[in-house]
Amino acid sequence: MFAQMDELYERMKNRLEQCRKDSNELEEVLAFYGKVLAAQHETQEQTPIPEIAFSAERIKLKIEEGFPLMESENFSVDKDNSERLFRKLCQLSTEENPVLASAGKALLEALASGRLDTAELNSAVLYNQAETIERYAKDLEVPLPVLQALTKLSIQPSLLATVASVARSSKLENWRHPYCPICGGLPAIAALVGEEGKREGLCSFCGHLWKLPRLGCPFCGNEKQEDLRYFYGEGDDIYRVQVCEQCKGYIKVVDTRKGSDPKALAVDDVVTAHLDLLAEEEGYERKAPRLWGI
Ligand SMILES: [Zn+2]
Ligand SMILES: [Zn+2]
Repeated sequence: MFAQMDELYERMKNRLEQCRKDSNELEEVLAFYGKVLAAQHETQEQTPIPEIAFSAERIKLKIEEGFPLMESENFSVDKDNSERLFRKLCQLSTEENPVLASAGKALLEALASGRLDTAELNSAVLYNQAETIERYAKDLEVPLPVLQALTKLSIQPSLLATVASVARSSKLENWRHPYCPICGGLPAIAALVGEEGKREGLCSFCGHLWKLPRLGCPFCGNEKQEDLRYFYGEGDDIYRVQVCEQCKGYIKVVDTRKGSDPKALAVDDVVTAHLDLLAEEEGYERKAPRLWGI
C-alpha cells in the first residue's frame, strides 16, 4: 500500500520537474509546490492507513444504485500528522514564498499561542463549514483562500490514506458516473488515457482517480454535441478545455497520450491556471475546486 503511495508522489514530483524545465514563468509557484509535495510525501509515510471495511453487499448495492461509498464524515483525519504538516507548510510559506509569508507567520504565531485549533479547522474544511473558516481568517487576519488551501493541503495525506483503504477493498471499475465513486466529489480536472483516450477524472475532494463517462458534460450530464465544445490554449497541444453551453461549466482535459501522466493531474491543474483564466474570461465557470480547496 505504501509502495503505491510512494509511486504516486514520485510520479507527481517527476511531472513537476518536467514542468519546471518547460516553463520559466511558473518557476516560483512550482518550486514552492515541489516543497509542499515533498512535505506531504513525508507525512504520508507517517500516516496510518485506516481500516475501513464495508460489506461486499453494501458496496455492490451502492455502486449499482450510483451512490458514492462514503460521506465526508467517514473520512478520518490523523490529527498529529496533519497538524505537523500544517505547521511545516506555514514554515515553508514564511521562508520560501513572499506572497504567503505574512499569512504563514501569523498562523505559526496563532499555533504557538493556542489561538488556532487545527482539529476544528480540519473539520470545517472537511464538512465545508464556511463560517468557521471565515471566523478564523478574520480573527487571525489571514486571507481566507490561503487558510483554506494550507488546511486542505495538510489533510490530504489523511484523505489519500482513506481512499487507498476504500479502493483496496471495493471493486469500483464499473462505476461510470461523473462524480467520484468514493466521496461523490466532482472532477477537478480530467485526462484522456490509453490508446482509445478513455476519460478519467481526478476527484476535487479526495484525490481519487476514476473513469468518467466517455461523453458529455461531467457537471450537468448534457450530451448534445452542439452544446459542447473544446478550446485549446496557445501552444498547449496536450491541454484542452471542454465547455458546456447548458450549464456554462468547463473542465480542463489533459491528453496523456501526448504528454504528462494520469497520476500527476494535480500538477497539471496548477500548471494550467492560465486556462482557468481564459475560460472564466469567456464566461464559463469552474464547477469543482482545485485539490488545494480553492
Ligand atoms: Zn472523491
Ligand atoms: Zn454542463
